[in-house]
Amino acid sequence: MKEKDIKCSFCGKSKDDNGVNLLIAGISAHICNNCVEQAGEIMKEDLKLKRAENDSHVLTLLKPKEIVAHLGQYIIGQDDAKKVLAVAVYNHYKRLNQTIEDDEVEIEKSNLILVGETGTGKTLLAKTIAKLLNVPFAIADATVLTEAGYVGEDVESILSKLLQASDYDVAAAERGIIFIDEIDKVARKSDNPSITRDVSGEGVQQALLKLLEGSIVNVPPQGGRKHPDQKMVKIDTKNILFVCGGAFDGIKQIIERRVKIQAIGFSNDDSVEFNEDNILSYVNQLDIKQYGLIPELIGRFPVLTHLDPLDRDTLLLILKEPKNSLMKQYSKLFALDGIALTIENDVLDFIVDKAIDLKLGARGLRSICEAILTDAMFDAPSNDITELTIDLAYANEKFSKSKISQIQEMIG
Ligand code: ADP
Repeated sequence: MKEKDIKCSFCGKSKDDNGVNLLIAGISAHICNNCVEQAGEIMKEDLKLKRAENDSHVLTLLKPKEIVAHLGQYIIGQDDAKKVLAVAVYNHYKRLNQTIEDDEVEIEKSNLILVGETGTGKTLLAKTIAKLLNVPFAIADATVLTEAGYVGEDVESILSKLLQASDYDVAAAERGIIFIDEIDKVARKSDNPSITRDVSGEGVQQALLKLLEGSIVNVPPQGGRKHPDQKMVKIDTKNILFVCGGAFDGIKQIIERRVKIQAIGFSNDDSVEFNEDNILSYVNQLDIKQYGLIPELIGRFPVLTHLDPLDRDTLLLILKEPKNSLMKQYSKLFALDGIALTIENDVLDFIVDKAIDLKLGARGLRSICEAILTDAMFDAPSNDITELTIDLAYANEKFSKSKISQIQEMIG
């Protein structure tokens, strides 16, 4: 073959073509200098991507202030909880990065309990922090858990969820965060001996202890109940961070009683000024024990913090301010159909008022918005409009026809 007939097997150019200075010969093919360079670039990009993928399992150790700032983009208020959670998480992951050989001091885990009414952001806090840290996150509901042998989910199912959340990467799951919701619902019911079989109470707490103690647990990878022939995955829970949440209905009275007694003990101490709204901020481990969590379990949760009830102003901010606030989400949904959505301010007030009536915290906001906007979301895309304004009359009409308004009537 003549030299001018030799062509690059990738781009088809010969040595006479512009830019081709070199043709490297292989066994049955050639490659020009340009294609070598391009292939090099592709490989570099690919390597970068692979590194980024690997890095996603490496923990980014953000400082507590950075964590709080990040949480602030998504969660309104709850400053105490944000701060306590940020420190707990920071210390937890500092603990993971330390090698015990360094010295004799082994840092203990900072599992934490969040006390606060429903819909005040407990789950959102835990979820947001897990996302920030890029660690697997699983939510479990304490009310469906039972001690082994009873109908319901074994506590190991929590670990199955975490394993699934980490795409069955055991090492990643072992550094994950588990949020156990409604922990208050498994409180010991010692005051109520009529409950003969305390499966949902103390038995579950005892079973949870096993996970919290940092042991190696056999986990059915697909969840469900264990059975003898099933293949199990071993998960070490030593470095899993557990966050429990609960509304602890009625705990305010327990706290109040204790605080009052303490205040009498220090009769000169007038620093204790509590009311209905701030009483939760005084919560401590004693109150949780009195509520019915067993001391062994409480001992595994050294950090305890509270979430404030959400007042009108906070609910209004929650509607508008967070990075993915409901208002931003609805605007985006309409914008995707080419429609500029305006929701008048008195409609926002209306939504907040209804949420307060429903007593669902911020959780009610979404259902109320849906009740008001569903018809518009159904009609608007077919109506060839570019703007839509929701005023109070419209909101009122749609809301009063909705199912949720009937719930409100039931609540009274
Ligand atoms: P909890 O776990 O306390 O019952 P969630 O965290 O599940 O409540 O909150 C329910 C929803 O309400 C969240 O998805 C979020 O949209 C909203 N929400 C609750 N509290 C806040 C808050 N402080 N800031 C922003 N959004 C909140």
